[in-house]
Amino acid sequence: MVRNLVIYNSLSRQKEVFVPIHDGHVGMYVCGPTVYSDVHLGNCRTFISFDIIYRYLLYLGYKVRYVRNITDVGHLLDGGEDRMSKGARLDNLEPMEVAQKYTNGFHSIMNTFNTLPPSIEPRATGHILEQIEMIHDIFKQGYAYEKNGSVYFDTQKYAEKTGEYGKLSGRVIDDLLVESRDNLKNQDEKNHPSDFAIWMKATDEHIMKWNSPWSVGFPGWHLECSAMSTKYLGKQFDIHGGGNDLKFPHHENEIAQNAGACGCQPAKYWMHTNMLLMNGKKMSKSDGNTISPLELFNGDSVHVTKGYSPMVVKYFMLQSHYRSPNDLTDEALQAAENNYNKISSATRFILKLNDKEIGKASGDGIAINAELEKLMENVFRHMDDDFNTPNVLTELYEIIKLINKGTLPLLTDENFVKLKSLFKAIIVDIFGLIDESENKTGPLNGLMNLIIDLRQQARIAKDWTTSDKIRDTLNEIEIQINDGKEGTSWNFK
Ligand code: AMP
Ligand code: ZN
Repeated sequence: MVRNLVIYNSLSRQKEVFVPIHDGHVGMYVCGPTVYSDVHLGNCRTFISFDIIYRYLLYLGYKVRYVRNITDVGHLLDGGEDRMSKGARLDNLEPMEVAQKYTNGFHSIMNTFNTLPPSIEPRATGHILEQIEMIHDIFKQGYAYEKNGSVYFDTQKYAEKTGEYGKLSGRVIDDLLVESRDNLKNQDEKNHPSDFAIWMKATDEHIMKWNSPWSVGFPGWHLECSAMSTKYLGKQFDIHGGGNDLKFPHHENEIAQNAGACGCQPAKYWMHTNMLLMNGKKMSKSDGNTISPLELFNGDSVHVTKGYSPMVVKYFMLQSHYRSPNDLTDEALQAAENNYNKISSATRFILKLNDKEIGKASGDGIAINAELEKLMENVFRHMDDDFNTPNVLTELYEIIKLINKGTLPLLTDENFVKLKSLFKAIIVDIFGLIDESENKTGPLNGLMNLIIDLRQQARIAKDWTTSDKIRDTLNEIEIQINDGKEGTSWNFK
C-alpha cells in the first residue's frame, strides 16, 4: 500500500503506522453483541465505527477478513445467571430462539444503518469444541487448574511468568483483585481472586450446558473470542476491536488466554471505541439509560422532540472521532440533521454533474484548483490519521464552500473527475451514507422492512395490541401496510 495509515493502538497507547502481518491482507476481529435483548444505540456506535474502519481498509485495497462474533452463551449476569437463559425465561422461549430473535433484530438494525455484513459471524455455541481444545492448550502450558469440575485461569502464574497481565487495561494486579468479578457464585474455588473461569460446571437448573472432560458445563465468556479469533484469523492477526468498556476484564483475559495457550500476543493492533453517552451518562442496558434505534427513528422517547432518520443518526456519530465520547442530545441531533442535509444535497449535486459543465482553468482558476487539490488531499490525510471522520467532514464543508462560490467552471478536467470520485468514495463507499431523498430505496425501505418484521413477530405471538398499533400509527403518517399472499408490502397513501 502507498498510503501511511496510522492507527491508535490501545496496547502501546500510541499511534502506530499500520503494517499488516501479511502484505495486502488484513484480519480483523470485533467483539459482537450478546443477543439476549435488542441492541441499543451505544452498541450501534461501536459497530458503525468498525464498519467505517472495515470499509476504509477495503477502499485502500486490502483484502480484509472481518470476523464479528455473536455471543450466545457464557456472558453471565450478577448472580451467575446466563443472559441468554434470562432472556429465554422472560420471553418463554428456547435460549436458541432468543439468540435467533435478537440476532435477526441486530442484522435488521445494521442494515438500516447501511453497514456491511462481516465476512464471518461465528456463534459461541457453535464453537464449544474449539473452546474445549483451547482449555487443553492452556492446561498444557500450565496456566489452568481444575476445582470441582470448573476450570480457572491462573492469573498469578501468568503475571509472574510474562509480566503482562494488566498491560492492555493499564491495571496493576492489586486493582485486578478488586475489579475482577466474573459473576460466579463459587468465588472460593479460585486460588486467587483475579483468576477467572474458563469452564464452569453447570448446576442442574442451568439450561445451556455441554459435555467436557471436566464436567457438564459451559465456557467462560472471554474464551469464545480467543477460540474463534484463532480459528478464523490464526494465532496472530492484525486488528482486534470492541468498545473500551471491554478492555477489562474481557480483552485483558482474552490476551491472557491466547498467550497462555500459544505463547504469543493474538492481535498486533487493539482498537477501542469510546462510549456513546445520552445526556452526559453512558448509554447502557443495565442502567436503563438507553434509547433503541427504532425509538430514535420514530421519535418515540422522552429524550427527543422528534424522530431522526437512520442516516442522520449515523452522520451524528461520524461527527465525533471513534475514540472520543459522543453525547447524544436532542440539540446535537438537530444540528447533525442540518449538517447532514447540507452534505447530502451537495453530494447529490456533485455526483450528478457531467463533464460538459466544466470549463478550462485559467486566471483565478489556477489558485482555485490549487486550493481544491489541497482540501481533497486533506480529506484522505484525515482518514489516514486514525480514521478521523470529524476532520474529514470539516474538510468536505470547505470544499462545498469553495464550490458554492461558483468555481466549478474553473476546475481542470482532472480536478473535476477527482472531486466527483472523492465524494463518491467518502460519502457512499466509506461512510455508507445513502441518499434518503430517494424514497423507496435505501434506509427508508430497510426501516419499513424492519417495522414489517416486528409487526409480523407481534402477530405470530398473537400480540394484537402491538401489531394494530404499528398499522394504525403508520396510517396516521400516511403509510399503508398491505397484507397479501406474497407477504406484506407498504406504500405512501
Ligand atoms: P454487549 O452486547 O453488551 O456485549 O456490547 C456489544 C458491543 O457494544 C461491545 O463492543 C460494547 O463495548 C459496545 N457498547 C456497549 N455500550 C456502548 C456504548 N454506550 N457506546 C459504545 N459502545 C458500546
Ligand atoms: Zn469478545
